[in-house]
Amino acid sequence: MKRLLVLGAGTAGTMVVNKLRPLLAVDEWSITIVDQDDAHLYQPGLLFIPFGSYSPDEMVKPRRHQLRAGVDLVLGEIDLVRPDENIVELADGRELGYDYLVIATGTTPRPDQTAGMTGAEWRRSVFDFYTLEGATALAEKLAGWEGGRLVVHITEMPIKCPPAPLEFAFLADSFFTEKGMRDRVEITYVTPLDGAFTKPVASRMLGGMLEERDIGIAPDFYIERVDDEAKKIISYDEREIPFDLLVTVPLNMGADFVARSGMGDELNYVPVDKQTFQSASWNNVFAIGDASNVPTSKAGSVAHFAVDVFTANFLRHIRGEEMSERFDGHANCFVESGGGRAMLIDFNYEQEPVPGKYPLPVIGPLTLLAERRMNHWGKLMFKWIYWHALLPGRRLPIPTAMSMTGKELAPPTTTTEKERV
Ligand SMILES: Cc1cc2nc3c(=O)[nH]c(=O)nc-3n(C[C@H](O)[C@H](O)[C@H](O)COP(=O)(O)OP(=O)(O)OC[C@H]3O[C@@H](n4cnc5c(N)ncnc54)[C@H](O)[C@@H]3O)c2cc1C
Repeated sequence: MKRLLVLGAGTAGTMVVNKLRPLLAVDEWSITIVDQDDAHLYQPGLLFIPFGSYSPDEMVKPRRHQLRAGVDLVLGEIDLVRPDENIVELADGRELGYDYLVIATGTTPRPDQTAGMTGAEWRRSVFDFYTLEGATALAEKLAGWEGGRLVVHITEMPIKCPPAPLEFAFLADSFFTEKGMRDRVEITYVTPLDGAFTKPVASRMLGGMLEERDIGIAPDFYIERVDDEAKKIISYDEREIPFDLLVTVPLNMGADFVARSGMGDELNYVPVDKQTFQSASWNNVFAIGDASNVPTSKAGSVAHFAVDVFTANFLRHIRGEEMSERFDGHANCFVESGGGRAMLIDFNYEQEPVPGKYPLPVIGPLTLLAERRMNHWGKLMFKWIYWHALLPGRRLPIPTAMSMTGKELAPPTTTTEKERV
C-alpha cells in the first residue's frame, strides 16, 4: 500500500482528500488526514458574528462528516515532521509514516506575539474576530457598547482573507448607523500597508470607500506594543493611537511544528514552488492553502483553485511524469461594504484586480470592483457552496486559472514582498 498523509483537515486538506479518494485505488492507496479536533469551522462566517448576523452554532460541523468514505481521520496535535525519515510525530507519542505528505495546517492568529496584546484588556477592550471565541466575545461587547474610539487594526501582512479587516470597518459603520449611534463612534483603520489595500487600483477604490464613510486611515503603522493601561497602540516609530475599543488582526503564523521540523520560513510558512506546491527540499512533500509561502492571498478561494491544480499534478507525479499544470496565483475575494452590498475582486500573481463581470464575461452575474447587492448575495450563498460543493470536492463552474475575457485591461503588476497577501 502507498500512504498519502495530509496534515490539517481544514478547507484545503479536506478538499485534497475528497478529490483524490475517488482517483486513487482503495486497494493500493491509504489516505489519512490529521487534525487536532473534530470541529470544522466555516471561517468566512466569523466576519458576521460580531454584528449578530450569524450565530456561532451555524458555523461548525464535525470534520468526520465532511470526509469521503475511505479517508481515515486521526485526531491529535501534530508535534513534528521528520521529513528525511517520512515520519510525523503527534504530541501524544503516536507516529504516522507516509510516502507522500501534504501540509495543510493553515495559519493562526498569534496575539501572544505582540507585547501587551493579551494583557488585562484582552477580550475587555481589545478583541480579535479571527477566532470563534474572539468573534463571539466581540458580539457581546458590541451589543452593549455605548460608543467612543473604535480602532480596526492589522498587525502585519500577510494575513488570511486580507479584505476582512476592511470589511469589518465597513460593517461597523453600517451597524452603528442602523443603531442610530454613528455620531458617537469614531472609526480609524490602522494598517502596516501604505494604503487601504495592497494592489494599487483596489487600494485607491477601497481608500475612497473609507473616506466616504468618514473612517480615518493610519497607514504605514508597524505596531510595537499595546499599552492596555493607557489604551493606546504604539508603533516602532513612536506614533500613538488611542482607543476605547481595539479590534485587531494579530500576527498570522503557520503552525509551530513546521518551525520545529526545520521546514518553514520566518513565519512558519513552508517554502514551495509557487506553481506546483512541491517543497523545495523534499520532492514527496507538498504544502497547500494558507500553510504555504506562495505569494498570493491566503484565502479559501485560493485553496480551491490550488487544490484543482495540485490534484491533477499529484496524479502525474506518482506516475513519474512531469507536473505540467501551473498555478497562476488566482484569487477572488468578496469585500462586504455594508448596507447589503459587496465588491468582488479577482486577481493572480501578475494581474491586479480590474473591472468587469464574473464568472461569465459580460453576463456575470457578479460585478468586479463595484459595490452591488448581487455580490453581497454571492457572499452569503458561499456558505452553502462551501459545505455542499467545495468541501466535498465537487467541480464548480468557475475556471481555475484567472481569465481576462470581458475584463477591462490594466497594466499587469508584479507582486512584491510587501504585497504578499
Ligand atoms: C474572518 C475570516 C474571514 C474569511 N473570509 C474569507 C472569504 O470570504 N473568502 C475566502 O476565500 N476566504 C476567507 N477566509 C480565509 C479562509 O478561511 C482560509 O484561507 C482557509 O480556511 C484556508 O484553508 P487551509 O486549509 O489552508 O487552513 P484552515 O482551513 O485554517 O485549516 C488548517 C487546519 O489545520 C489544523 N491544524 C493546525 N495546526 C495543527 C496541529 N499542530 N496539529 C493538528 N492540526 C493542526 C487546524 O485545526 C485546521 O483545521 C476568511 C478567514 C477569516 C479568519
